[in-house]
Amino acid sequence: MIKTVKLRPGRERSALQRHPWLFASAVNLPKESIEPGETVRVADSRGEFVAWGACNPRSKITLRLLEWDEGRAIDTGWWRGMIERSAARRGELFRSADTDAFRVVFGEADGLPGLIADYYAGYIVTQFLTAGALRIKSELIDILVQVLKPKGIYSRADNELLALEGVSDQSGAVFGESPPDDLIVRENGMKYYADLRSGQKTGFYADQRNNRRIVSGYARGKRVLDCFCYSGGFTMGCLAGGAESVVAADSSHEALELLGRNIGLNGFDPAKVRTVEADIFQLLRDYRDNGEKFDLVILDPPKFAPTKASLARAMRAYKDLNLHGIKSLAEGGILATFSCSGGVTARDLKMALAWAATDAGCEMQIIEYLTQAEDHPMRLAYPESEYLKGIIARKTG
Ligand code: SAH
Repeated sequence: MIKTVKLRPGRERSALQRHPWLFASAVNLPKESIEPGETVRVADSRGEFVAWGACNPRSKITLRLLEWDEGRAIDTGWWRGMIERSAARRGELFRSADTDAFRVVFGEADGLPGLIADYYAGYIVTQFLTAGALRIKSELIDILVQVLKPKGIYSRADNELLALEGVSDQSGAVFGESPPDDLIVRENGMKYYADLRSGQKTGFYADQRNNRRIVSGYARGKRVLDCFCYSGGFTMGCLAGGAESVVAADSSHEALELLGRNIGLNGFDPAKVRTVEADIFQLLRDYRDNGEKFDLVILDPPKFAPTKASLARAMRAYKDLNLHGIKSLAEGGILATFSCSGGVTARDLKMALAWAATDAGCEMQIIEYLTQAEDHPMRLAYPESEYLKGIIARKTG
C-alpha cells in the first residue's frame, strides 16, 4: 500500500507549480513510519492528490516530487521512460564527433531526483545522492545499462550531499569494466585524461564545455592566466585558440600533473605553459606586488556559496578574487570570471565584479554573459538547477 503524506495547509503552492522539493516545515508526516526514500502519495491538507514523490524523513528536503499525473505509477517503466527521454535530449552530444564527455542525467533538472549520470567515452559515472535514488540503485543501474549500453558503470559516493540525506553509499564499479586509469575523453576536439574514479567531481567539468570554446576565442596572441585550472580545460582551449603563453594555476598537485599530461596528449608546445601550484588568493597578491600582468585572466573557483545562507561570505570572496584578478590585467585585458555557487545569482556575480572594479579604480565593460552547457539544463520549475554563471569583461581604463 502506498502511504499518503499530507502537506500543511497552504503549503502546496510550490508543489503545484512543480517545484520538486518540499521542506520538513511544509510536511505533516503520518504516524506510520516511512522508510528513507519510500515512494508516497503527496496530498494537500484536505487529502487531494498533488503528486507522487519520494519521502525521506531524515532529510530537511523531506519530499522530492516525481510525477504530477495521478494515473501514472512510479514503477520500473516510469523510471525507464524518464531516463530514456533524458538520454534522447542529449542526442546531439551522443552523435558529436568531437565531444564524448557530457552529463546524461542531471538529477531534478531532468525530473530524476538524486540521480546523476555522466557519460565518458563509453563509460558511465553515476551518483546516487538521495535516499529515493539509493533505494532503487540496482534498478536504476539496470535501466542505465539497457538504455545507454555502456562498457562499464562506476558509482561515486564521495559527495557531501549524502550526509545531508542521512544515508551512505559506497564507491565502486557496479556494472561491466571498471574505467581504466588512463581513459581519454574528447571535448571540443581536444583530448583529456579523465580520472573517473578519483578525479574531482566525476572526473571532468563538462559544464564548462561551451565556455572553454568561447573563452578560447579571446586567446590569440595573448598572455593567459588560467586560475583554478584543474586538468586544463581552459588552458587547452586557449592554446588551441593561439595563446602566446599560459600560466595555469591550481592548489592541487594532481590536477597540475593531469594538465601536464593533457598538453602532451594534444601535441601543444609545453614551453608555452607554466604550471603553478599555489593558493590563487595568494598568487594574485604576489602578481600585484611584483607587477606581473596578463592579457586574459580566467577565474573559475570552486563554489564558495552552496546555498543562499553562505551568500554574504561568498560575495566577499568573489569580490576579493575579482579585485585581484582585475589588478593582474594589462591595459585592455579580458577577464573571464565564473561562479558555480548555487546561492549566487548572475546579478550577484555582476555586483561582485562591479565592487571589484570600483576598488581597483578601473572601468570595465561586460562583453558576454555565460552559463552552463546544454547537458546541464536549467529547469524553470527548479531554479536551483541554474548554478554556473560567467561574465567576460574588458578592462577599458
Ligand atoms: N577550470 C577547471 C575547473 C575548476 S574546479 C576546468 O575547466 O576544468 C576548481 C579548482 O580549483 C579545482 O581544481 C581545485 O583544486 C582548485 N582550488 C580550490 N581552491 C583553490 C585555491 N584556494 N587556490 C587554488 N586552487 C584552488
